Amino acid sequence: MENKRNTEQKRIIYDALMSADHPTASELYELVRAKYPRISRATVFRVLGQFADDGSALRLNFVGSDTRFDARTAPHAHCRCTRCGRVWDVLEGKVLQPLGEREVQGFLITSAALEFMGVCPDCRAALGETRDN
Ligand SMILES: [Zn+2]
Ligand SMILES: [Zn+2]
Repeated sequence: MENKRNTEQKRIIYDALMSADHPTASELYELVRAKYPRISRATVFRVLGQFADDGSALRLNFVGSDTRFDARTAPHAHCRCTRCGRVWDVLEGKVLQPLGEREVQGFLITSAALEFMGVCPDCRAALGETRDN
């Protein structure tokens, strides 16, 4: 019985992670709790840790931010807005190409984390800036 319950909780938490945008554990807990008030904060934190450990999710440790979680586990880069803190996936091939496994000067690169800092479209609009493209 316990196993079945755990599986159900994991599914709920994973679904929430898939639909959320790089949430912190606290943010994800708030999301899950809105729909499933009986799931505890400790459970959400524990299950997220398990996902990160077994490779079903990535832990993102940005400077100056709580750890965020990402259900997209393929290599990709992130843009982070320095004003509102939102995080986006960068999916452009040009940017992502260097993130795959490859050898550089005899060093075998197996993974990489790349973070672009900047200002997001919403914050740019709020600042009165226009987009060039
Ligand atoms: Zn922003
Ligand atoms: Zn991501």
